[in-house]
Amino acid sequence: MKKKLLLILCIILSFSVLAYAQTKKGVGTGVGKHGDILVEVTFDKGKIKTIDILENKENKVLAKKVFTELKDTVVKSNSVNVDGISGATYSTKGFLDAVQAAADNAGVKLSTAAVASSKKETLPKTQNFDVVVIGSGGAGFSAAVMAKSQGVNVVIVEKMPNVGGNSLISGAEMNVADSWVQHKVGIIDDTAYLHYEDTMKGGDFKGDPAVVRVMTDNALEAAEWLRDEIKVSFLPDNVFQFGGHSRKRALIPEGHTGTETITKFQAAAERMNIPVILDMKAVELVKNKDGRVVSVKAERDGATYTFNASKGVVLATGGFGANIEMRNKYNNFYNEKFLTTNMPGATGDGMLMAEKAGAQLVNMDYIQTYPVCDPVTGVIALVADSRFDGAILVNQNGKRFVEELERRDVISKAILDQQGSYAYQLWSQNIESISNPVAVHQDEYEAFMKQGIMFKGETLQDVAKFANIDYKALKATVDKVNQYAKQGKDGEFNHRGGLKDMSKGPYYIMKAVPSVHHTMGGVRINTKAQALTASGRPIPGLYAAGEITGVTHGTNRLGGNAYTDIIVFGRIAGFEVSK
Ligand code: ADP
Repeated sequence: MKKKLLLILCIILSFSVLAYAQTKKGVGTGVGKHGDILVEVTFDKGKIKTIDILENKENKVLAKKVFTELKDTVVKSNSVNVDGISGATYSTKGFLDAVQAAADNAGVKLSTAAVASSKKETLPKTQNFDVVVIGSGGAGFSAAVMAKSQGVNVVIVEKMPNVGGNSLISGAEMNVADSWVQHKVGIIDDTAYLHYEDTMKGGDFKGDPAVVRVMTDNALEAAEWLRDEIKVSFLPDNVFQFGGHSRKRALIPEGHTGTETITKFQAAAERMNIPVILDMKAVELVKNKDGRVVSVKAERDGATYTFNASKGVVLATGGFGANIEMRNKYNNFYNEKFLTTNMPGATGDGMLMAEKAGAQLVNMDYIQTYPVCDPVTGVIALVADSRFDGAILVNQNGKRFVEELERRDVISKAILDQQGSYAYQLWSQNIESISNPVAVHQDEYEAFMKQGIMFKGETLQDVAKFANIDYKALKATVDKVNQYAKQGKDGEFNHRGGLKDMSKGPYYIMKAVPSVHHTMGGVRINTKAQALTASGRPIPGLYAAGEITGVTHGTNRLGGNAYTDIIVFGRIAGFEVSK
């Protein structure tokens, strides 16, 4: 009897040892866009069972599908030889590398079969809505949420696999005069009219005065709407003063990027049951026999879809900064030699569709570069936002050459005129401590350090050595800055924010070039966001808002005015189209 029991026990034990041996875990790391991605993979009988993401600093919106859709495909196929998520190339690679490393560490061999990404949802070929919004940046979301709150049935159609457009990757600061944050920090003399004057002047008076006036007059209400209805968190006690503004008036979202605003918009759209259809590229606006825009033709994977819009269509497709062909066509100075800060979807599709539908395109040759960008990738350097708190720009000879709070076009041109067409931005810890951009954008800082374009040094000598700038020349420049800071007046370039003392380290230095950032031109609209023909007649059923429009910023958009523009006119378009 005892022998029998022992035998049974032995059998149970060997089965569980076998079962245990069949389950393995491996941990692996890959490098994503914003640093390491760490995963733990559980394998069952030599195949992937689950993947846990232990650590990642990827953009929540851009990389979402990597950690959901792509992860599911990898688990199901037991392969990392899968189609990536477009628009999230680095996050895809980092994730797949991490899974492969985990398999290697666990001694598991994955399948090498090539796998297409998982199937998208099947959609009816024709759908009926009251309002169709094309584009899911700040303008598109504002229009859709506003339209839905007016009781109409609305859809957002987006060509990329993720929402957000340039609105997501921008710093997302928003100029508002007379805001609650200005009051908190003691700025009580700003007005919408001053904001209007700065905007008109900043664009060389080429903006449409009536449209600009509507933008600045409605900025506060739009910001309060973002705060109270969309639940966007703004820093309670800090505002930026971007170049060309006479007051510090830019509200700063939590995290200093558009991720805060766009994720809150996504949540609002979900709450309100607004469908957002991704990977769906609008290709044509269709008019009825009376000339009214009544429908949108769109494409996905070679198939055509129709979105009927009984009340109208809002174009919110952004600019054409990422379309070199269009840049060449409208202003070939900004040819392929320039990199861009834009996301790949900024190709001007909406402008071309609007033009075909009879809308006038204006100011198309005004293309803006952002002065301080990564010389390798062209990506905007948010870590260098210390410029708005007093960081200086120097050339290879260690000399300042422009007022650091000048307009973007003026600074960009000044940089291009320097030897090598680049500049260095330099700042000290006391300047850094005002808004802490290095701490806020730590991932970017680490990436720039790795690329060798940024450096932190204890002394001025250290940073001069890094940048190969003559120390004596750099010291002479900083000595002058310290003197101007003490005097309260910049004797050379009349810095409008006032220079800061830079006598104490540590110091930060970053190499920077201008990169194509914003296209000022686009669809001509009126104050109701209606698209206009060359004779100024509204095209029935067609509205446009955001960077696709061409009459707000004139020759040059001031920093922080993109968000003011997209939210104010997105809301107006959503309201007007719902009438
Ligand atoms: P804005 O700041 O004006 O809101 P964004 O660049 O933030 O502009 O957003 C524009 C969005 O429109 C992007 O997400 C972009 O991918 C999308 N888009 C551009 N062209 C099309 C198109 N043809 N169909 C659908 N979406 C488009």
